[in-house]
Amino acid sequence: MTAEQIIASLEELVASGDAPGKVLTDPADLETYGKDWTKIHTPAPLAIVLPKTTEQVQALVKFANENQVALVPSGGRTGLSAGAVAANGEVVVAFDNMNKIVDFNASDRTVRCQAGVITEQLQNFAEENDLYYPVDFASAGSSQLGGNLSTNAGGIKVIRYGMSRDWVAGLKVVTGKGDVLDLNKDLEKNNTGYDLRHLFIGAEGTLGFITEATMKLTRKPNDLTVLVLGVNDLTNTMDVLKAFQNKMDLTAYEFFSHQAMQHVLAHGQVQAPFETEAPYYALLEFEAVSDQVMDDAMEVFEHCMEEGWVLDGVISQSETQAQSLWMLREGISESIAPRTPYKNDISVVVSRVPGFLQEIESVVTEHYPDFEIIWFGHIGDGNLHLNILKPEDMPKEEFFEKCQQVNKWVFEIVEKYEGSVSAEHGVGMTKKDYLRYTRSEAEIAYLRGIKQVFDPNGIMNPGKIFD
Ligand SMILES: Cc1cc2nc3c(=O)[nH]c(=O)nc-3n(C[C@H](O)[C@H](O)[C@H](O)COP(=O)(O)OP(=O)(O)OC[C@H]3O[C@@H](n4cnc5c(N)ncnc54)[C@H](O)[C@@H]3O)c2cc1C
Repeated sequence: MTAEQIIASLEELVASGDAPGKVLTDPADLETYGKDWTKIHTPAPLAIVLPKTTEQVQALVKFANENQVALVPSGGRTGLSAGAVAANGEVVVAFDNMNKIVDFNASDRTVRCQAGVITEQLQNFAEENDLYYPVDFASAGSSQLGGNLSTNAGGIKVIRYGMSRDWVAGLKVVTGKGDVLDLNKDLEKNNTGYDLRHLFIGAEGTLGFITEATMKLTRKPNDLTVLVLGVNDLTNTMDVLKAFQNKMDLTAYEFFSHQAMQHVLAHGQVQAPFETEAPYYALLEFEAVSDQVMDDAMEVFEHCMEEGWVLDGVISQSETQAQSLWMLREGISESIAPRTPYKNDISVVVSRVPGFLQEIESVVTEHYPDFEIIWFGHIGDGNLHLNILKPEDMPKEEFFEKCQQVNKWVFEIVEKYEGSVSAEHGVGMTKKDYLRYTRSEAEIAYLRGIKQVFDPNGIMNPGKIFD
């Protein structure tokens, strides 16, 4: 089939029914929908399809199988591993027009959403109904539920509420073979063999499309209070975490370096939390539901000061102040984005973080002496974001090549500590060469086998996770 014939067929496929979809081929649209946040690869899709219904998605998949057309699922394109990138003439299937909340069950506390619902739209819907959707991160205003589930997104509340996976009651998917499956039927208990729902979560669109999801909601947290602490060194962040967790439940525990904070402050929207300069900062959040909880927090804070782990601290006195303290952490990705950061998103089990951190830090200092390194992350669940900023005068290609040389050392430490080369961003294209540092050969063979079952013709997001 020629490109023109494929485009004409796509137009025909989504034109049917009461809710016709759209096909875009304008160069500006191809550029926009062909990439995610990584911006490493040059986008080059053949066309963009915006379906309106699951039936249209199914028709697209059947057509793709019959004609060997590669499909790339696309959500909000905030992904950080090039999972939604179309750089080889693929057809992008974008869910922007499947963005409705279709059902709400107040007694089950579940909400059925189309895949294109924006994360923040779901959070706001929960709030309007006096409930809470706890998966949250800085890109929640643009990312879509289909993308969140396909990457099993984590974020800033994992320490208390878990990952996206934990909030899925049911999924509607179109497999790579073109079957529509209603997975788990929103049941809380359903032990009837393999739970296929969980295979699609985190599959990065390589097994099929998620077209709808039923998400669970929970009670709203009360009196969320934020404490920002200046911390003496990276390993002390873990001493502080342990001290607080021995006394109280935290809803978040994040860290960032002084350099990371400097980038946020340069944007001018927030101020430094206090005058004392510290190499690292910990941000923790808890529900201050009683005077006793506040007293406990103050007692632990004083203990951390006495131990010399903490240099200074500030506690929020209002919701507005809590939000602006959160900006110190949540504003980092955006503030460094113009510097084309090379991102590593690594993790180990929490108890092994201190030794892991020390080894990573010494390798990075030794091998990146000329690069600006930005540390931050969800350290409460063992997840570190290591960002290397491109020197202004260095060409992009040379910079990424240098970063990849150092990856070997970083990932060898990850392997030694039995950690993950991608804690929450997925594998996509950027981490596929390093998958073996976290997954064994036998495991990868099973992954390939599963792919073969759901997508025997290899039309779903080829070249992502593995070749
Ligand atoms: C500023 C910033 C902060 C971030 N912070 C975090 C964080 O704290 N935690 C975290 O986990 N991530 C974070 N991310 C990464 C990103 O936002 C998440 O991975 C998010 O879940 C991606 O959603 P998306 O809709 O943008 O997906 P996309 O980037 O569009 O796609 C991601 C993957 O999902 C697939 N996909 C998309 N929609 C579907 C569908 N309907 N069916 C099947 N496959 C599909 C794509 O093919 C791709 O492989 C951050 C990103 C940015 C830019």
